[in-house]
Amino acid sequence: MLPYNNSMTTVVGRLAPSPTGTQHVGNARTYLIAWLSARSQGGRVVLRIEDLDGPRVKPGAVETAFNDLRWLGLEWDGEPMIQTQRLSHYRAAFERLQSMELVYPCTCTRADIERAASAPHAEHEGPIYPGTCAHRGVADAARLTDRPYAWRLRVGNDTITFDDRFRGRTSLNLHDIGGDFVVWRSEGIPAYQLAVVVDDAAQGVTEVIRGDDLVPSTPRQLLVYRLLGLPPPSFAHVPLVVRPDGRRLAKRHGDVHLANLRRFGVSPQALLGLLAWSCGWIDRIEPIALTDLVARFGWAAIPHDPFVLTPDMVPAIGGR
Ligand code: GLU
Ligand code: ZN
Repeated sequence: MLPYNNSMTTVVGRLAPSPTGTQHVGNARTYLIAWLSARSQGGRVVLRIEDLDGPRVKPGAVETAFNDLRWLGLEWDGEPMIQTQRLSHYRAAFERLQSMELVYPCTCTRADIERAASAPHAEHEGPIYPGTCAHRGVADAARLTDRPYAWRLRVGNDTITFDDRFRGRTSLNLHDIGGDFVVWRSEGIPAYQLAVVVDDAAQGVTEVIRGDDLVPSTPRQLLVYRLLGLPPPSFAHVPLVVRPDGRRLAKRHGDVHLANLRRFGVSPQALLGLLAWSCGWIDRIEPIALTDLVARFGWAAIPHDPFVLTPDMVPAIGGR
């Protein structure tokens, strides 16, 4: 038997790809930062496949995600967690929220919510839920036999503050970022916000490092941690990789998919060199081994603006 349980002090980072499209240079940059942060602290890295979004999950994409990570050398510890195999865990967490009357059935369509919303609202986040169904209790679901409904969590008007390791102290008001949010979808599957909390807690994750498009998700997840009585991890949100026109890398930008770079013969060290340079860890774009990056990793050098991937950069590392 071990003399003490050190699980509280070991850093556990995670990689959580969604197999909905192919992983691109932007995903690789975020994974690299997450991986190096954990490894540079002597920590573990766990892997989770976020495949709950059934219709958007592409056949073969899970295998591609494994291959992309292995190609880069971003090895993970233990068996990957697969969300579609964990429905009973999400259901148990959801039933706890139900037993506390913290959720209610919502029959609104997207169009209903858009019509009722008073003001347009923060980027990517959609309209603020106007509370149309908030008068309902859990038991009211039994009478809603004629139409589909999702379950929303009551969020109140709290402002949640967290110390983002990259962005610094961040405060967001739960109402302003969208109000009551869906934790269980009308298709009968858990929403991302619930599943991610259940899983990060189950995997013992101590630090969540992800793209800053997910900043508005963090206060929601912190609320779910609190309501479920689970200890939250620390968070760091890093800028995305964008095109010169400021738009994010997208599926149609096939030239930046990791699978394509592999096919063109780009070496993982060449891509790591580009990413390390973009993070301020090396002065020039030149191939570098992942092991050499562990000692160079640091938060302070990473620029706070999005990394602009110009059309010459991918050919410069051997792609097209
Ligand atoms: N699966 C999500 C994605 O690939 C990441 C979710 C998270 O990091 O919390 O965008
Ligand atoms: Zn509603």
